[in-house]
Amino acid sequence: MQLNDGPASRRRISVDEAIRALLAQFDPVSDHERITVLDALGRTLVEDIPARADVPPFDYATLDGYAVRASDTVGAAPDRPVPFEVIGVLAAGAVTSRPLGKGEAYRILTGAPLPPGADAVVPFEGTDGKGFGGWEGADAVSLGLAEERVAVRVQVRSGDDVRPRAEDQRSGEILLRSGTRVRPAEVAVLASAGIYSVWVHRRIRIGVLSTGDELVARDHDGPLGPGKIRDANGPAVLALAMRDGAETVDLGQALDQPNSVRGSLLKGVALGCDLLVTSGGVSMGDRDMVKHVIRDEGEVSIWSIDLRPGKPFTFGRFHGVPVMALPGNPVSAMVAYELLVNPVVRRLQGDRATVPVEMMAIADQEILNDSGRENFVRGVARIAGGACGSIEWHVCPTGPQGSGILTSMSRANCLIRLSPETRRVESGGRVRVRLMDAFPLW
Ligand code: AMP
Ligand code: MG
Repeated sequence: MQLNDGPASRRRISVDEAIRALLAQFDPVSDHERITVLDALGRTLVEDIPARADVPPFDYATLDGYAVRASDTVGAAPDRPVPFEVIGVLAAGAVTSRPLGKGEAYRILTGAPLPPGADAVVPFEGTDGKGFGGWEGADAVSLGLAEERVAVRVQVRSGDDVRPRAEDQRSGEILLRSGTRVRPAEVAVLASAGIYSVWVHRRIRIGVLSTGDELVARDHDGPLGPGKIRDANGPAVLALAMRDGAETVDLGQALDQPNSVRGSLLKGVALGCDLLVTSGGVSMGDRDMVKHVIRDEGEVSIWSIDLRPGKPFTFGRFHGVPVMALPGNPVSAMVAYELLVNPVVRRLQGDRATVPVEMMAIADQEILNDSGRENFVRGVARIAGGACGSIEWHVCPTGPQGSGILTSMSRANCLIRLSPETRRVESGGRVRVRLMDAFPLW
């Protein structure tokens, strides 16, 4: 794969082209592991998961009241109460084999299976029954006692206040598809289905390297020496990779010398990294040698993207291991990670959703794009009332957009996406917004 036309060419590839090309390079890792459902949080299922049984397993009362045959309540009204004989009490977890006959009722509590013969529940409020929810009621239940008769003052229909068996899950139906990322909702579905462990893709291992002579050691706590800065990208990329559920290998920092970069990358290869992510040293400067180091012992197939911030993003392989080289400016590094590395990590870990949710929003102020590139402006999206009482998504840039202004990332929850041709969006205009951390579901 060689995407830019050649080292001398000025042609840059678009972000979408780059994402497509990158995704085409990767298949999900083929190693799987079976882990408990809670450990699977954030991991991706390798198999379709069928329901093992009906959930709920029986028809049950959705509130406290009296289980009856609905047909026995026909004509019941406040001024024409219908008398029932109460033949027992059913609390959640209790069952009875004694079927309900005509004119009979069970006092029933939320969650208790409907007794045989009953097809509806009359809420307690629709009767002259006493004591639900109070001490008297609790006592009556624990003693298995109930009043002998109750007057029903409302007519109910079959199925009223009954949650039917299999309403949630029907035995054999597919509950979750292969390629689904496990969120708390999936943990709950699996738990309710009685599934305690699942097969998932293994985590991928990402080696993270910062480059630059100007970086001080991560644990340097004192004042900075002249010309020195702290390493934001290393921790930022480690955190992004951790958020994405990967195992991380901290390769630390390399100097702007080929041997230093080379040595660090080789260490990542030796440690079995599935992917190496570097930052810095990929521009056109005299000291930017990351591309050369990769090319000397592998290949470079992408080295320039029609993107702001993040143009010098580079992709290649070093000793066969894929390397994604991010620009040094911290915002560029983070944005390029979100746009280009995150989809690859998702694909490698088996996630079907690789590209996050986008939506249209109203710009609350003028936004300019003088870059001639596709511009991703850090923004704050919120839902708010607009003109004529409409409720719509609105978005505002976070302020100055310099690619060193890291605090703008911290203030943002979205990226406002402006095409290379869009020079200006006026206040009130519509813009494309890419939410951070929101992915489509299938
Ligand atoms: P480079 O792409 O190496 O030319 O770096 C571009 C800018 O980003 C320079 O101002 C660097 O000092 C800065 N930079 C590079 N790496 C880091 C890092 N790990 N943390 C913070 N800033 C960095
Ligand atoms: Mg540098």
